[in-house]
Amino acid sequence: MNPQSLIRPIVRALHAYVPGEQPKIRGLIKLNTNENPYPPSPKVLAAIKAAVDGRLRLYPNPTAQALREKLAKFHYCAPENIVIGNGSDDILALAVRAFVEPSGFRVPALAGQRRVLPAKAGTPNSACTVQYFTPSYSLYPVLAATHGARTNAVRLATDFTLPSLELLRKSRAWDFTAALMFITTPNAPSGRGYSTAELGALCHLHRGVVLLDEAYVDFAEENALRLALAHPHVLVARTFSKAYSLCFQRVGYCVGHPALIAALDRMRDSYNVNGLGQVGALATLDDLPYYRRNFARIKATRARVSEALMRLGFDMLPSATNFILVRPPRFPAKDWLEKLRARKILVRWFSYPEVKDYLRITIGTDAEADALLRAVKTIL
Ligand code: PMP
Repeated sequence: MNPQSLIRPIVRALHAYVPGEQPKIRGLIKLNTNENPYPPSPKVLAAIKAAVDGRLRLYPNPTAQALREKLAKFHYCAPENIVIGNGSDDILALAVRAFVEPSGFRVPALAGQRRVLPAKAGTPNSACTVQYFTPSYSLYPVLAATHGARTNAVRLATDFTLPSLELLRKSRAWDFTAALMFITTPNAPSGRGYSTAELGALCHLHRGVVLLDEAYVDFAEENALRLALAHPHVLVARTFSKAYSLCFQRVGYCVGHPALIAALDRMRDSYNVNGLGQVGALATLDDLPYYRRNFARIKATRARVSEALMRLGFDMLPSATNFILVRPPRFPAKDWLEKLRARKILVRWFSYPEVKDYLRITIGTDAEADALLRAVKTIL
């Protein structure tokens, strides 16, 4: 028997998500996966260590209830407005499964349901569509593909700003009834921030679910959380990974209307958030001033690196995140990746057309920034 024949065709055809490299090379400066250069607060480390004992044999709280309650206070909402995920990637996957029909799946005609199958075969089926801007987080099309959903990638403007509503309407590029629209805000890999006013206008027009993926929002000037609490079809996803230095623990969450949150909750694994992750996230919320100092340090380093690279001839996009997207001078971006790697500095390069001329560089410590700038000067 050919084992391949046992695997679903969409799984066989899947181009799986490619995470950034995690090489274990001594002395390597890792600026490729947008991790925070500063460790979790000492209080968080102490809380996690104190939880490592015989209780590891027990299941953790299935809904991460204490964390939901603490986050609800933090965001001035109710625990029913919040669901916790195994990282925010878990939340994004749950949203696809909860709100989007796999293509070819017949939607039962329920009274009052506004999504219906198109009358004519071949017309776009919004109920099966995951929509997103391109370039943005490259996981979205993978999640759609694993679910057997359609995708609609809407191009950002060439400077990676949001296209105007007039243009979106006129070009018909945007399906205003797509079942799920992901917006990475601030965006990755461009680093651009979007104003809450712009996002609000888009949400106002959209008839499906809009999920604002705010993975990097603590490094931005604005956040759009209030849109999730004001509109029943808008969700905001957040993570403890980036700003709160907790990638290893895998904790993310989603804020929104209790009906949509309950739908995500129904779809998740019963124990989707590990116990030590819950402990770490809870302790994080007790020590926010520590993290706010780190945001300020990262933003200061971002300004310094941006300014220095600009003076060295790099094209620079304004960043509202803990990374910058830059177009390097003299050599193709892919060559820069290799030249920097040869000097033990790892950055990220994406091969897809909109960004293949750019490098994405995570903002590290000041010492790492100095090493990067020294290496760049040597290469030039
Ligand atoms: N959204 C965006 C835009 C990201 O870049 C990432 C990290 N790759 C995530 C969500 C997921 O982060 P996590 O699962 O660690 O919460």
